[in-house]
Amino acid sequence: MKKYSAFAIAREAFRQHSGWERAWAKRPPKKRYDVIIVGAGGHGLATAYYLGKNFGITNVAILEKGWLGGGNTGRNTTIIRSNYLQDPSAAIYEKSRSLYETLSQDLNYNIMFSPRGVIMLAQTQHEIRGYQRTAQANALQGVQTEWIGPQRVKELCPIINLDGRRYPVLGGLWQARGGTARHDAVAWGYARACSDMGMDVVQKCEVTGVRREGGKVVGVDTTQGAIDCNKLGIVVAGHSGVLADMAGFRLPIESVALQALVSEPIKPCMDVVVMANTVHGYMSQSDKGEMVIGGGADGYNNYTQRGSFHHIEETVRALVETFPMISRLKMLRQWGGIVDMTGDRSPIISKTPVENVFVNCGWGTGGFKAIPGSGWAMAELMVKGASPLADEFSMFRFRAGKFIDESVAAGVAH
Ligand SMILES: Cc1cc2nc3c(=O)[nH]c(=O)nc-3n(C[C@H](O)[C@H](O)[C@H](O)COP(=O)(O)OP(=O)(O)OC[C@H]3O[C@@H](n4cnc5c(N)ncnc54)[C@H](O)[C@@H]3O)c2cc1C
Repeated sequence: MKKYSAFAIAREAFRQHSGWERAWAKRPPKKRYDVIIVGAGGHGLATAYYLGKNFGITNVAILEKGWLGGGNTGRNTTIIRSNYLQDPSAAIYEKSRSLYETLSQDLNYNIMFSPRGVIMLAQTQHEIRGYQRTAQANALQGVQTEWIGPQRVKELCPIINLDGRRYPVLGGLWQARGGTARHDAVAWGYARACSDMGMDVVQKCEVTGVRREGGKVVGVDTTQGAIDCNKLGIVVAGHSGVLADMAGFRLPIESVALQALVSEPIKPCMDVVVMANTVHGYMSQSDKGEMVIGGGADGYNNYTQRGSFHHIEETVRALVETFPMISRLKMLRQWGGIVDMTGDRSPIISKTPVENVFVNCGWGTGGFKAIPGSGWAMAELMVKGASPLADEFSMFRFRAGKFIDESVAAGVAH
């Protein structure tokens, strides 16, 4: 793979841009791999990347039924933060956030990581207590966050209205090194690096069955034929229940649509990310100038990867008291993705009842931020059978009642 650099751009400028290579190879799948990963979203691609980078395992295929990053990875609102309450969550999300800091350099691909800072607003007394508690927990976990008062919120985000009648801004939990990244670039960067290691990223290849012999996986059936493997990673977000069914086990998970929308582009007016969990909305400004707005998940299970009209009204109405300026903005487009939710709002990175089948799912409304850390942990689990970052997130915790309750940290979609 040729390295992307300022010199490469200059060289190609002289050559009429005739020397750029394909970012990743396009070839049909082989008959057999050491590892197959189902799902070329961020988590699947990151798992493959760290299998190669950390363990030298490169006879790997990543099978994707649609196009690369076309699931939730290319549909989210790109918020990155690690201010979770429970220790296992803080560990994996902070690992992830720290990997994001140097991901562009690691992948030689500009993922446009922008650590502009994230504020989670407190708009009720209950939230003040909750976020102050999280700030204390984060201090013990080594995660840098800070409780800030309303005036500091206003300094960081001048367009905010502190004095809403129903929900005044009472303070916030501030993570200065949280922020955003370009979501497609994360998928493309990992795919390019995987391809460079000799792995196959196969698009339009839907897995339709999981083949087992004696309680052990031996391969998968796909729309491009049968493929054998020693180990299988299921990393398909909103379709995890469907794949688990093919493999012969059940997951404690639900699939729901989560929606987001963007406004027309406007001049730069907001250089932090703000989340308002009580009113259920959050907002940041993209590099193009659009206000990127997200709200809550649909209240019923479905597999519909699209938006619905009432959602635009509900989300904008929720935010307008806190950000009066958005009442004058035209909304440009909206979309939806299918996210997978567990009962404790924490992910599953786990062995399964089928030998050599591993599952990574349940990131719900907040898994973009976790992509590098999750891939790191999943790769370790698949190779060593255990990972300090992943062990608490076993699917069997639900049987044992060892929940990792993050319903507050994941209270709004992000
Ligand atoms: C509107 C919205 C806003 C969000 N905002 C944020 C945010 O701000 N911050 C944040 O951290 N998270 C956010 N999220 C959540 C985040 O996007 C997801 O948690 C994360 O992208 C999940 O990544 P993934 O790789 O597990 O899944 P996906 O990216 O969904 O990848 C799974 C892939 O599996 C493929 N697949 C499914 N079935 C099969 C099959 N049978 N065979 C082959 N391939 C298959 C799918 O086509 C898909 O490409 C948001 C999500 C949405 C929808």
